[in-house]
Amino acid sequence: MNERIVVGAALYDGGRLLAARRSAPPELAGGWELPGGKVEPGERSEDALVRELREELGVEAEPTGRVPGEWPLPKGYVLRVWTARLVSGEPRPLEDHDELRWLTPDQVWSVDWLAADVPAVEAALGLP
Ligand code: C5P
Repeated sequence: MNERIVVGAALYDGGRLLAARRSAPPELAGGWELPGGKVEPGERSEDALVRELREELGVEAEPTGRVPGEWPLPKGYVLRVWTARLVSGEPRPLEDHDELRWLTPDQVWSVDWLAADVPAVEAALGLP
């Protein structure tokens, strides 16, 4: 039986954290998340993270460390998060998102994070 893992990136740049607003599916649209997605069978989590950031944001990024913890998602998935840094490119909402925002530390709670992302963001804060 496959593990059901979703990887998310706490992508930091200059001390700011990237938040992405979902445009789909309807039940998640409008909620903000750490960008990422499902790990494919046989794929390493860090490779999935790099692939998802390439597909969703059009950037090359590098995971820099695992954020301790994991958080339950619907349908038996769990969310695991890595801090990451931009290697090249400027993030654009290419897939699944309609807005991106770089949040300074005092802006982190100004967006409406999806439920699972709230504890994940709390755990990622201060781990650049
Ligand atoms: O992006 P993708 O659709 O592959 O993500 C799978 C599921 O994981 C989403 O439907 C959503 O419920 C959840 N998710 C989340 N927070 C994230 C990333 C994904 O809640 N940061």
